[in-house]
Amino acid sequence: MIHMSYYSPSIEKLIEAFEKLPSIGNKTAARLAFYMLDRSEEEVNEFVSSIINAKKNLKYCSKCYNISDTDPCIICSNPKRDESVICVVEDVKDVIAMERTHEFKGMYHVLHGSISPMNGIGPDEIKIKELLSRLMEGKVKEVILATNPRVEGEATAMYISKLIKPLGIKATRIAHGIPVGGDLEYTDEVTLSKALEGRREL
Ligand SMILES: [Zn+2]
Repeated sequence: MIHMSYYSPSIEKLIEAFEKLPSIGNKTAARLAFYMLDRSEEEVNEFVSSIINAKKNLKYCSKCYNISDTDPCIICSNPKRDESVICVVEDVKDVIAMERTHEFKGMYHVLHGSISPMNGIGPDEIKIKELLSRLMEGKVKEVILATNPRVEGEATAMYISKLIKPLGIKATRIAHGIPVGGDLEYTDEVTLSKALEGRREL
């Protein structure tokens, strides 16, 4: 199908930029583009610089690999958090999901993915080595494997549990209740709290 453009090239380009964002279709992209064009130059500058600044200032915490303005992040540097428990998650967004439950007071470790041989992602491609070196420090008593309840997430949880058992550290898996194939990110706080509470030893 030939795409007929009714817009000038700069508007077309702006629409295309919005269209690249997740869950933004062509119509919404056009609406957002025209919305931005209606704003004052000052408002547009503020919007653009908030993106640039976030990108520039945010880094990964060298301890837990959560995204943060500071290193270590606010969670790792909070003395009230329990250093004896680490909750292992796949993604930065999962930390936010867990924090929203207000139930978990331990530390996190963000893997930045899950083991997926089909996609060529092996254990070395995610932050497993980094997790092990944290565990070697000897402060951790329990590792809660809160990877997503998908094939890859389950495989990753099993892989990690096998590595840490010889270290004498308890490995637990969050309970089911989170729909299979679902994401922690989209699970409501109550379900996630229950999944955390009902975790079982692997
Ligand atoms: Zn951290």
